Amino acid sequence: MFILFFSPLIVFVGTKSMRKGRDKLSYMKPETLKKELLKKCKSLGIPFVGFTPVERWQTPPQELPNTLSPWIPEEFFPQSIYPEARTVIVIGLPVALPIVETAPSIYYHELYKTVNAMLDSKALEIANFLNEKGYGSIYLPRDAYGDIKILIGKPFAFFSHKHAAYLAGMGSFGHNNVLLTPQYGPRVRFTSIFTTAQIPPDPIRMKDLCIKCLRCVKSCPVGAIPLKGDFPPPVDKKLCAVRSAQLREEYRSPCGICIKVCPVGKDRELFDRKNMKMYSEDKKFERYHKAWEHVRKYGSK
Ligand code: SF4
Ligand code: SF4
Repeated sequence: MFILFFSPLIVFVGTKSMRKGRDKLSYMKPETLKKELLKKCKSLGIPFVGFTPVERWQTPPQELPNTLSPWIPEEFFPQSIYPEARTVIVIGLPVALPIVETAPSIYYHELYKTVNAMLDSKALEIANFLNEKGYGSIYLPRDAYGDIKILIGKPFAFFSHKHAAYLAGMGSFGHNNVLLTPQYGPRVRFTSIFTTAQIPPDPIRMKDLCIKCLRCVKSCPVGAIPLKGDFPPPVDKKLCAVRSAQLREEYRSPCGICIKVCPVGKDRELFDRKNMKMYSEDKKFERYHKAWEHVRKYGSK
């Protein structure tokens, strides 16, 4: 053990492995570090990982498939939050479609909380892994707001994981303003790690995955997703937060409807949910509707 620094209030004790790691890996090639990180993520059961240099926030490529105009204000850039940051690592965990289909429900409510907590702990573990190797790194919380009611007055967190995931090549924005992935459509939750390490970036995904079916627009119970405008059109975050706050009082937040009705994602094959009429034709798909109604009846108001 060795003492890294001392103050009357704080004593931070580094481990031998941290010192060894720093000495040994200060020469690690960026490609090798990336391989090590991917191995670590695999061991943590993380299926989605992306890497983006912080410079992409300053100069988002002009040929992006989504307009995303206006771009994010500078105070939300990773380098504004952690000036030493060189790379943002984004990790994602999927939410299972058959559970999302019950939304709003206690079932989706519990899954949402669990996935958020898992993302927080895995991101923290990755940051610690990098710190042990001598690369200063910090995790970011999945949901950085004290209460959903805060989002009604101030509908932004201090950092956007979905923009980070976009710049890390993990998907493209859908009309519903959620990041769509080829594998799970909008049914992936993301969080991020800021690191001082330089890691080879992943290419930005140039294909627009949204098929503009507008199912999300038609299904939103509060009309928060505009039909027209720049793509993706700005969702009325206040309306969406008000709905989520109401559902929270009933123990069945978040809403999740624009997530469940989106046809994009290979998970529709995995769960045999390719027929999109199943959400509107209750008679033909009676057994599914019965199952969802059953879940919704219990555990929440
Ligand atoms: S989460 Fe619900 S309220 Fe919010 S935009 Fe989607 S469908 Fe509308
Ligand atoms: S529901 Fe349709 S319009 Fe909405 S995001 Fe998905 S593919 Fe795009």
